[in-house]
Amino acid sequence: MDPSPHPDNTGPRARDRPGTEAVIEVEGLVMRYGELEAVGGIDLHVNRGEVFGFLGPNGAGKTTTVEILEGYRRRTAGRVTVLGDDPERGTARWRGRLGVVLQESAPEQYLTVAECVRLYAGYYPAPRGVDETLELVGLADRPDVLAGRLSGGQRRRLDVALALVGDPELLFLDEPTTGFDPSARRAAWDMIAGLRGLGVTVFLTTHYMDEAEHLADHVAVIAGGHIVAEGPPATLGGRNVAPAEIRFTLPTGTAIADLPEAVRSTIAGQDGDRLLVTAVSPIAVLAPLTAWAAARGVDLADLEVRRPTLEDIYLELTRSATGTATS
Ligand code: ATP
Repeated sequence: MDPSPHPDNTGPRARDRPGTEAVIEVEGLVMRYGELEAVGGIDLHVNRGEVFGFLGPNGAGKTTTVEILEGYRRRTAGRVTVLGDDPERGTARWRGRLGVVLQESAPEQYLTVAECVRLYAGYYPAPRGVDETLELVGLADRPDVLAGRLSGGQRRRLDVALALVGDPELLFLDEPTTGFDPSARRAAWDMIAGLRGLGVTVFLTTHYMDEAEHLADHVAVIAGGHIVAEGPPATLGGRNVAPAEIRFTLPTGTAIADLPEAVRSTIAGQDGDRLLVTAVSPIAVLAPLTAWAAARGVDLADLEVRRPTLEDIYLELTRSATGTATS
């Protein structure tokens, strides 16, 4: 199914703000594998210094797009500029300005953490210091541990260190916290947020909506090879103006007919005594409802007010774009 353009999908031009420099510009990118159109003409625009979240279900076209941006894959059509150059003609010097952290990595098992970082530093003309790099990723206290002895989370940190040691301007991070426990994930988020302070632009691919919400300045959602929405996480898909859902249970001894008109007229669903009310402006319902309850001396113990989460919006966008449940 061909997804219709979402109102939030304002395209790359809308992000051209004075004083902001584009690090990645993509227009009409198409990638076909034989008969399969994996990427169907997408636009992307990433500004210098931002964390850009690239979201999408399995098979949406993320890896294909990222590999094209990194210069690892030739595209079928479209215009792509990364750090001012076409990745298909990227020189060694251009490549040295990128850092890439892949999902699967195999740092040298029998080298220590510091030796691994020193080895990679040798590939770059003006590398960052080894100690400084280890400090950045939170491995400063483990320079002498063998890479093969690190935990999964520490291993990912080493991966990031190996990408950062070249002092890149642009860092591609592919699902950096998959398989992490909650505290390791938080620590990784702090590390990624810290990169912003260094002025590094981060292109973050993730399946976790909370990760995108926490880290990304701007996100683009790809589904079925098309961008179905883009914008800051707080306003993606119009979620900031989507109606709030208000739920409460009718207090014992009261009936729907007793409720104030402003509440009764906005009831959108009912499950026994539990009512669902939707309202663009929750105050317009909550004020009369709570005043009514107070006047009657009854409690609304399980009152709940909820706006759609980024995950709600993401699932809706990707489901309607692909016609399937998503990962
Ligand atoms: P995931 O989240 O599962 O990694 P993705 O969003 O990265 O998915 P891609 O790996 O870009 O998606 O794949 C997009 C589509 O292109 C899929 O249908 C995939 O099967 C197909 N595809 C990817 N690489 C190739 C290839 N080398 N040859 C043929 N088809 C491919």
